[in-house]
Amino acid sequence: MIDFELEPQVVSRLQMYHAVAENMMRPISREYDEREHEDPWQFFETMWQAQSLNDVGPAARSTGGEPQAGPKLRNLNTVITTEELCWGDVGLFLATPNSGLGGAAVMAAGTPEQKARFLKRFAEGKPKWGAMAITEPACGSDSAAVTTTATRDGDEWVINGTKIFCTAGHRAVDKSEGFVVVWATVDKSAGRAGIKPFVVEHGTPGMQVARLEQKLGIRASDTAAIIFDNCRVPAGNLLGSAEVNPEGGFKDVMATFDATRPIVAAMAIGVGRAALDFVRTFLKEQNVEVRYGLSPRRLSVVERDFMEMEVQLQAARLLTWRAAWMMDMGQRNNLEASMAKAKAGLVVTQITQKAVELLGPLGYSRKLLVEKWMRDAKINDIFEGTQQINMLIVARRILGYGSKELN
Ligand SMILES: Cc1cc2nc3c(=O)[nH]c(=O)nc-3n(C[C@H](O)[C@H](O)[C@H](O)COP(=O)(O)OP(=O)(O)OC[C@H]3O[C@@H](n4cnc5c(N)ncnc54)[C@H](O)[C@@H]3O)c2cc1C
Repeated sequence: MIDFELEPQVVSRLQMYHAVAENMMRPISREYDEREHEDPWQFFETMWQAQSLNDVGPAARSTGGEPQAGPKLRNLNTVITTEELCWGDVGLFLATPNSGLGGAAVMAAGTPEQKARFLKRFAEGKPKWGAMAITEPACGSDSAAVTTTATRDGDEWVINGTKIFCTAGHRAVDKSEGFVVVWATVDKSAGRAGIKPFVVEHGTPGMQVARLEQKLGIRASDTAAIIFDNCRVPAGNLLGSAEVNPEGGFKDVMATFDATRPIVAAMAIGVGRAALDFVRTFLKEQNVEVRYGLSPRRLSVVERDFMEMEVQLQAARLLTWRAAWMMDMGQRNNLEASMAKAKAGLVVTQITQKAVELLGPLGYSRKLLVEKWMRDAKINDIFEGTQQINMLIVARRILGYGSKELN
């Protein structure tokens, strides 16, 4: 039975997260949107300290589904707290130092020894970032088309290739003692089974940030192109088994996405809720009442629009909570993770656009954050699998087709 009643411990954490979102993120939201690629170090330091002392911030994201002290429903807790912080600012959330998507990949594919070795650093020292690099100039949605190679040479792997659009890549490579998990093929003839994740640590010769992207939204988050040029890593940095197993090879990528898609869905919901809350207050100030319980025929257009926004957000939230809860229960959530991601990515773009529309010219003004939320929203419909790709996965799962039959 699904039970989403929050433990008292989670409720009190949520209040703390809300305070962080409201008092630490919102006040610098506009500033670091304008100052793209600059680092809010004071915010980073505070979040880093708070994460280790009080478990505030997206630290839970860094350690995926590992059982540890704290709430029983760890993944559910992560998506709930992610929503809260992204209500504050999704760009700053993504910029907050933690092991990020790289950590999720370590959790999904690494051995217990590798998890301990690579993630321990995120509990100590100075702020650090982890990143994950799959996307290449000719490989995005079709992540099986990776062309970056890893060639065994004695006790090392030699990585060659170019990765693009890597979230937190610059901060992981150049600004902290972080790491990048790079996906490369060890055997092109084996297709997707030959693709393996490698941890490349900060300071490894041959790994270099080539450029930073200038973006529409989430501008506080850095997005980097990274070149791997004869980049050597110890053999033990290949996460999991080096064996090329036609049955198992690509499962690590999928397991990573199953863990991270509900988190991205929660990010979307946080942004959507920020816009919805703003519109609610605005309507109240304009003395526009939203009357619940009436027939739709008797409602004004604004009331109907507002209720539709609420309903869609709630539907996305329930799908997201379910996908995370299934992970907590040890159940396979591939279908549900894609459902949540596709729905949340879609509704956040609709809700934030509607918010801009309902506010009139004010919605378009940089005086308010509503236009920023509209810009921040779209990425949730793109990364960790676009909406179209997640819909494709949903269709495959429901119809019982494989990637060869339905693509
Ligand atoms: C800000 C930002 C941050 C990112 N962070 C990361 C990161 O940290 N790590 C990482 O590895 N990548 C990252 N990405 C890359 C992101 O995951 C890809 O952009 C995304 O997967 C889409 O791939 P693509 O850009 O190659 O688009 P394409 O695959 O070329 O797709 C273009 C369009 O075609 C559609 N499409 C493609 N195939 C199909 C199909 N079979 N059926 C229907 N429609 C289809 C897509 O939905 C999309 O609308 C990031 C991207 C951005 C913009």
